[in-house]
Amino acid sequence: MKALRRFTVRPQLPEPLEPLGALIRNLRWSWHPASKDLFADIDRQLWEQLEGDPLALLGAVSVARLQELAGDEDFLLRMRALSDDLGLYLSEPRWYQQQVAAGAEFPDAVGYFSMEFGLTEVLPNYSGGLGILAGDHLKSASDLGVPIIGVGLLYHFGYFWQSLSADGWQQEHYPAHDPQGLPIERVLDPEAGPGRQLTVSVSMPGGRTLAARVWLAQVGRVPLLLLDADIEENDDHLRQVTDRLYGGDQDHRIKQEILLGIGGVRAINAWCRITGHARPEVFHMNEGHAGFLGVERISELIAAEGVTFDEGLAAVRAGNVFTTHTPVPAGIDRFPVDLVRHYLDGDQHGRSRVLPGIEVERIVALGAEPDPSRFNMAHMGLRLGQRSNGVAKLHGVVSRNMFSGLYPGFEAEEVPIGSVTNGVHLPTWAAREMVEVAGEMADWQDLASASEWPAADRVPAARLWEIRRLLRSRLVDLARATVRRSYLQRGSTEAELDWTDSILDPDVLTIGFARRVSTYKRLTLMLRDPARLKQILLDRDHPVQIVVAGKAHPADEYGKRFMQEMVRFTDDPEIRHRIVFLPDYDMGMASVLCAGADVWLNNPIRPQEASGTSGMKAALNGALNLSISDGWWDELYDGHDGWTIPSANGVDDARRDELEASALYGLVESRVAPLFYQRDAAGVPQAWIDMVRHALAYLGPRVQATRMVRDYVTGYYGPAARYNRRVGQDLAVAKDLAAWKTRVAAAWPLVRVVNVDTSGIGTDPSLGNVMTVRAFVDLADLQPEDVEVQTVTGRVDEHEDLHDITTVPMSVLPAGAESVDPAEGFRFEAQLPLTRSGAVGYTVRVLPRHPLLVSPAELGLVTHA
Ligand SMILES: *Cc1c(COP(=O)(O)O)cnc(C)c1O
Repeated sequence: MKALRRFTVRPQLPEPLEPLGALIRNLRWSWHPASKDLFADIDRQLWEQLEGDPLALLGAVSVARLQELAGDEDFLLRMRALSDDLGLYLSEPRWYQQQVAAGAEFPDAVGYFSMEFGLTEVLPNYSGGLGILAGDHLKSASDLGVPIIGVGLLYHFGYFWQSLSADGWQQEHYPAHDPQGLPIERVLDPEAGPGRQLTVSVSMPGGRTLAARVWLAQVGRVPLLLLDADIEENDDHLRQVTDRLYGGDQDHRIKQEILLGIGGVRAINAWCRITGHARPEVFHMNEGHAGFLGVERISELIAAEGVTFDEGLAAVRAGNVFTTHTPVPAGIDRFPVDLVRHYLDGDQHGRSRVLPGIEVERIVALGAEPDPSRFNMAHMGLRLGQRSNGVAKLHGVVSRNMFSGLYPGFEAEEVPIGSVTNGVHLPTWAAREMVEVAGEMADWQDLASASEWPAADRVPAARLWEIRRLLRSRLVDLARATVRRSYLQRGSTEAELDWTDSILDPDVLTIGFARRVSTYKRLTLMLRDPARLKQILLDRDHPVQIVVAGKAHPADEYGKRFMQEMVRFTDDPEIRHRIVFLPDYDMGMASVLCAGADVWLNNPIRPQEASGTSGMKAALNGALNLSISDGWWDELYDGHDGWTIPSANGVDDARRDELEASALYGLVESRVAPLFYQRDAAGVPQAWIDMVRHALAYLGPRVQATRMVRDYVTGYYGPAARYNRRVGQDLAVAKDLAAWKTRVAAAWPLVRVVNVDTSGIGTDPSLGNVMTVRAFVDLADLQPEDVEVQTVTGRVDEHEDLHDITTVPMSVLPAGAESVDPAEGFRFEAQLPLTRSGAVGYTVRVLPRHPLLVSPAELGLVTHA
């Protein structure tokens, strides 16, 4: 019989156990081993069976057991100590508060918007790297005391669970999640009535309204607000807006993004009003999905202050930060522009009904791109965010090229997109044994703020090796159980599965490869030469085993075919004890895989991996990375922390794959495996462990998400807050800035460099000569203080193009000095010492200048001589 409806009744705890409820409600337990140990002791068997979900455990444990624990002094003592510890964690000043006390000007609060958040496998509200990064961002902000408020959506079905058919084809399952069974709380709205949950709403075309209730996931010190459209106020169609993550068509997707951006700002406002929390001064868009938050904020300002759209834009941009996560143009979120028009729902004056006071076409212009039929969410993010960044140094370079079309006339290197390299949350991803090692290596400094781990030598090789074996054997146990379960699902019977008890070997060199199955990540590169791979796996002296996992997007037929190819390879009885595919990759599995692998393999097509994070998780556990030089590895490989697979550029795709696969096999055969099996008398691979120790000490402080969050705070949130305090909060300044932008944009077509002359270098220029460059510039209606006139020097190539440019500002000569008539223009001058030999060249250009521009390229205006 099927239930008509399901719901979850939350258990009532006996009074002495009440602090347990608070320990469970705050997700800090998910990265706090002592809290997990306490939960496990409630009922070991249930804890295992429920895969470490404390809320489910409380729902399942018997009342008698709870009564027993309520009288267990030992248990109560531990519980109270943990409760005090949590209280301290939530209240004591941390890195952020120390910086502020020392005079740093940081924002009172930051709103962080993301389409997905991966916090723990018991809150399955993520699909992969982007969501887990967002989760690690919140956890690390909590550890550092950064006052972030997260905003996301709560998906009824989350992302899918993966299994395999008999022939290795991916099967997707969408189990429904009852919010009452998830570790989240209702946000109550006293103004709506006692016990009423906070709801926000956004209008939809045709006079409909999309409402969403607001849930709270408490992530240590950081609140995460989750919007959920599955409520009775919505018609059946709108109830499905938050049904699943990255499911459905573009129409579905745009409704989700409107809810996230517009509904999310409304939820933050309401939540701050209810709780008295400081309102965000800075809003961070984690990828373009959240871009509508910027136009909602403009609309608010128009309603509250009567500003114009341009004034509102100037005010709001100052506090917005935008992060782009993909170097692959196909990965950018783009909507048909008519779909955007439809949802913005213009009235007879062209004003949006969703965002009162704003003309639909102004919003459409924010997402404009070369294809006029498309609305580009990343372009909107860049136009709405005065600060933006990619997620690794190389990705910064790629992004500056990719988006250079928005800044015509500028060199790619001048495009105002910076980079903050991703990181991972150490207490979540390092095995507890490794957290201890990290503490020793960091010399007992606070791991969240230590920028070096200077005491690596303190950890002896034998101890590291012992921990590595322990982590590897945990991986082997998980693999055996998972493979057995998978074969049962695929139609095998218990009787034929004895072999799964002995697959993999806790003493064999273990390579891990687990990530989403996207074409560019090349899951099957290692299968390029199956015979050679087989030899590597079965080598008598230096055997290798490989553990593979990953989900393909449900609509990605190619991805599923790659997966099937991999699964079929691992089905081969000759090698199935040395290579396994583990279905249903999630955070729980990732933590065991990344910890247990000796080598973490990463072979994307360069430079398509923006950063990648699983290799960082592995590094924090003493795994060595074996990777293409891409993403984070491109900047953090130092020759001793792993191996780089040489990339083959400039050849066709098939040849590239063949060359890179061959390089990969070669490295494993001749470098990786021999080093792993080179043992001393005690059986310890000293040289290998030296590398492990170095990788830990060098990468540990650099790949942590607390380093990433500190970089965001000092390089982005802090400066954005300072600008916001000047521009965003003082509307007179925003109005001046908007008026100045309008004036400059109107005058710009008439600005021109009338002539340029040089003197001082004669006919035979040599190093050390000083050249005087003078330019006569017609500024139309502008004044010299509105512009910067620059010389640009650099190497010239055969096309007369400048490279490796340097710029020197020119100063305006006083009127009259050279019988200049300001009505005709101004004369500018600079002295240029010749500092490089060879073919060099220069030009002169004019840029808008204003103290509140972050980059001269910001307005996309430049005039060349
Ligand atoms: C870390 C992680 C990812 C992201 O891994 P990449 O190396 O960035 O591809 C994806 N899925 C899960 C479950 C993870 O834990």
